[in-house]
Amino acid sequence: MTHLVLFGPPGAGKGTQSAFLVAHYGFIHLSTGDIFRRNIKGKTELGNLAKSYMDKGRLVPDEVTIALLKDAWSSHADAKGFIFDGFPRTTPQAEALDAMLEGNGYQVDAMIGLEVRESELIGRLLERGKTSGRPDDANEAVIASRIAVYRKETEPLQSYYAAQKKYQGLSGEGSIEEITQGLKVIIEDI
Ligand code: AMP
Repeated sequence: MTHLVLFGPPGAGKGTQSAFLVAHYGFIHLSTGDIFRRNIKGKTELGNLAKSYMDKGRLVPDEVTIALLKDAWSSHADAKGFIFDGFPRTTPQAEALDAMLEGNGYQVDAMIGLEVRESELIGRLLERGKTSGRPDDANEAVIASRIAVYRKETEPLQSYYAAQKKYQGLSGEGSIEEITQGLKVIIEDI
């Protein structure tokens, strides 16, 4: 069972590329952001809680996010593989992911980082905000907060997985097809 972490700042293209990889490899796409958004739509208690953080561009607390991810992962016992998108975002989340996988005889096989310049990210998110219906894409202050949180809390995970020789970076600028192709080359080499 393959476990890939698709990594990168908000707007790097993780969701877009995940869709292609899922179609190609038949992996399960686990996006904590998508799960939170489904809960917001369904007006669940978790959705209410998540929304109070997401609307400000802050991270949902680790305890809640880790429990959610573990639940989602264990509900696909017969999966060929997983693409984690938007998780882990903090060191405790990465440690919890490693512990969960190791406890079941698996590991993170690779973290693939989509690398995109900051000026490009802001433009992409504002553009997406026109049609995505995501309040956190429509407001420049919230976008700035999400990017700042990424730099502080999430970017250090690149070194965390590089220390395990699992990090591979790829330019996230270029056509969607070019980037998908680059991802496939990396994945086939794992
Ligand atoms: P995303 O769809 O990955 O851009 O996530 C949207 C928002 O959901 C983030 O800005 C956070 O508020 C929240 N979120 C998603 N994944 C996580 C996570 N792993 N840890 C904490 N908050 C998260």
